[in-house]
Amino acid sequence: MADETTVAPVSGTILVVGGGISGITTALEAAEVGYEVFIVEKTPSLGGRVAQLNKYFPKLCPPTCGLEINFQRIKKNNKIKWFTLTEVEKISGGLGNYDVALKQNPRYVNNNCTCCGKCAEACDVEIPNVFNFGMDKRKAAYLPHEMSFPQRYVLDPSIIGTKTAQKCREACPYDAIDLDDKAKTFTIKVASIVWATGWNPYDATKMDNLSFGKVQNVITNMMMERLAAPNGPTHGKIVRPSDGKVVNSIAFVQCAGSRDENHLTFCSYICCMASLKQTTYIREANPESRATIYYIDLRTPGRYEKFYNKVKADGNVSFVKGKVAKIEEDPATKDVIVTAEDTLSGKKIHGRFDMVVLATGMEPSTAREKVPGNAKYDENNFVVPGEILATGCVKKPSDVMLSGETATAAALKAIQMLVRR
Ligand SMILES: Cc1cc2nc3c(=O)[nH]c(=O)nc-3n(C[C@H](O)[C@H](O)[C@H](O)COP(=O)(O)OP(=O)(O)OC[C@H]3O[C@@H](n4cnc5c(N)ncnc54)[C@H](O)[C@@H]3O)c2cc1C
Ligand code: SF4
Ligand code: SF4
Repeated sequence: MADETTVAPVSGTILVVGGGISGITTALEAAEVGYEVFIVEKTPSLGGRVAQLNKYFPKLCPPTCGLEINFQRIKKNNKIKWFTLTEVEKISGGLGNYDVALKQNPRYVNNNCTCCGKCAEACDVEIPNVFNFGMDKRKAAYLPHEMSFPQRYVLDPSIIGTKTAQKCREACPYDAIDLDDKAKTFTIKVASIVWATGWNPYDATKMDNLSFGKVQNVITNMMMERLAAPNGPTHGKIVRPSDGKVVNSIAFVQCAGSRDENHLTFCSYICCMASLKQTTYIREANPESRATIYYIDLRTPGRYEKFYNKVKADGNVSFVKGKVAKIEEDPATKDVIVTAEDTLSGKKIHGRFDMVVLATGMEPSTAREKVPGNAKYDENNFVVPGEILATGCVKKPSDVMLSGETATAAALKAIQMLVRR
């Protein structure tokens, strides 16, 4: 295995930016036919958002299994070199001959780390756990999540220079903590570039009427993934944030931000399937529970129609065709009151629920952070492949299967660019 601490940045061939499922797939496809690849990932571990999912639709298997297989393939392949905590600062040159300036932020933990956890035990500072969307806290010396690749702890920069950091270092039996670790900048030479920086959940606070951030028991679909996950903030118990009460009645609000001229004008492709999947989380956890899906259209393309039919057959799951106009809180009970216009009856209807999940859509990461080089975008900030190629959700809203397909296509294109140069 070639990892970031043992590999000097040398002239490479294909650069993949983003170590989610799309980036990993592109890298493996190219490396397994013999090409050299660099993966650059800005967080401390590879895996991207898939690592945050509880189960995969349509099979409802844990995503950890597929990720682990890919991590093993990366470990065994000496053609792939990867850098975590690293971002691209500048791309210069052109096709076949790029100079890419990278900045690697310090981890403060070297590869002596055995994940023994002694530094976390000694650490007396807690920080919001971004992996769980701030629903719990974690120590400032932490493993990003159980499945992290690499399996190596990180020290949060906020404790560097404090007594806490010293305590963590003293607690480490393997001399793995380096408090003098500094940011490094270096340049790599590559011939083609694939952008695979994925997506962010659309900011739900922007939809004022849906009350996210104002009504405690309104959460987003990605928060629901973490809430239902055995390694999540409640160890898989689906309880409401305000009082920890087991959720009996739940509503899903579709197209929360998507297909809306004031927000994301496109269909996010995955959120109908995500809500259908999440009804199975609650129905399995609590046989008494009831779920209601408020939708404008339900989009379950191709083979996903079968999954929809299965969920529809459950008498405790109901579907309301209508746009949600308003979400409010009953201050006495903390229940959530949903007001919608039922399209079929034309009537205004009200529903009372323990908790509401907003099916928020996908915004390409390039809406916030552009490629520091010559890239093109469509009107929604998705990267339009040109000299710089793109795959996965930074190219278009995608599920994992589609991400895999565009990743394989991007690998082939990147190879063609090398061969033709
Ligand atoms: C609620 C919900 C449930 C879902 N459930 C399913 C499901 O069950 N089945 C399914 O098939 N799909 C599901 N999806 C869709 C799935 O999450 C995506 O298809 C998948 O995440 C796409 O992977 P990606 O690699 O394109 O992007 P990402 O997963 O976003 O990975 C991108 C990577 O790039 C990194 N990165 C970002 N910016 C930079 C930068 N500037 N420099 C370096 N690195 C960077 C990120 O840290 C990340 O590691 C779900 C989506 C949602 C919202
Ligand atoms: S940094 Fe040291 S103490 Fe912390 S998990 Fe790694 S080996 Fe253990
Ligand atoms: S997938 Fe469904 S919920 Fe998501 S934007 Fe499209 S229609 Fe709306």
